[in-house]
Amino acid sequence: MSGKCGMEEITTNNTLQQNENELNKLIKYIFSLLTSVKVPENFAANSNLFDDPDFKKLYDAIIALRELTSALAKGELQRYVIGKGYIISNLKALQSDLQHLTWQSKMVASGDFSQRVDFLGDFSKAFNEMTIKLQNSKKELVELATTDALTSVPNRLALSQFISKAFKISAEQDTPLSIVIFDIDFFKKVNDTYGHDSGDKVLVKVSELLNSQFRSNDIFSRYGGEEFMAVLNASNKENALKIAERAIKLVEKTEITLNTDTRIWVTVSAGISSRLPEDKTYEDIIKRSDIALYEAKTGGRNRVCTA
Ligand code: GH3
Ligand code: MG
Ligand code: MG
Repeated sequence: MSGKCGMEEITTNNTLQQNENELNKLIKYIFSLLTSVKVPENFAANSNLFDDPDFKKLYDAIIALRELTSALAKGELQRYVIGKGYIISNLKALQSDLQHLTWQSKMVASGDFSQRVDFLGDFSKAFNEMTIKLQNSKKELVELATTDALTSVPNRLALSQFISKAFKISAEQDTPLSIVIFDIDFFKKVNDTYGHDSGDKVLVKVSELLNSQFRSNDIFSRYGGEEFMAVLNASNKENALKIAERAIKLVEKTEITLNTDTRIWVTVSAGISSRLPEDKTYEDIIKRSDIALYEAKTGGRNRVCTA
């Protein structure tokens, strides 16, 4: 017959009970490591578990998790912790995404609305909706700020931006650049005879007709009042003259409808000049185009003169 009896049985029971108590304490300790605000110290101080390398690994892993989650929750994105494994890797991935997002937000703040996020689920969707809206609003604002409200052609601001670049490139690369100023003839009479609204209709139609004669890499803009300016890239005076003559002929032969029983014709005069090697700014070209326009006016109107 075998089996424990007497003192031996009591000792075994005591040992089992002791082990169970130790295990319970250990579980409680690990639980509080995971859940308490502060790392509990009493257990660690009285335990020789830290001599066990596996326990040490578990402890270090939990401490690393505590550190990283707490740093993330406070928005401290630069905190580096040692550790591998499923949970910590996911947290590190989140940390790196948030670092990237911070950089992207800075880019948005500097005006780069092309930033998009594709790594943070619902948040990405919201961020992207925001940057798309900003991008569209900026586009609309730029469009509004650079378009003439009446004729829908580029306004003077758009013209000056275009012309500065065009002049710089033309001077640097020694390529031709021509400027044409158009001015509607006797436009005041149109206003006086048919009213300001009719004058506006004429401005819109004449602008549309003249604009149709220019290439997409040139600019045709409203310079002010009933004056328009075209800047022709890589075009010499002869080339610009041909285009301007064709444009004013188109206006001359086009009947403009003011209302059901009023149709009128108007004419346009134009002055042209091209960049000269000695020109310092585009204003030098504009001055000569203006003088040429004056000659077209005094020479009888409905014509193009070159400087
Ligand atoms: P010229 O042949 O010498 O150019 O004579 P003009 O009558 O065209 O020249 P002037 O500069 O005396 O008159 C231009 C007129 O253009 C005066 C102004 O009231 C009118 N004008 C300027 N802007 C607008 C506008 O937006 N709408 C209308 N309807 N008229 C405008
Ligand atoms: Mg004028
Ligand atoms: Mg005029």
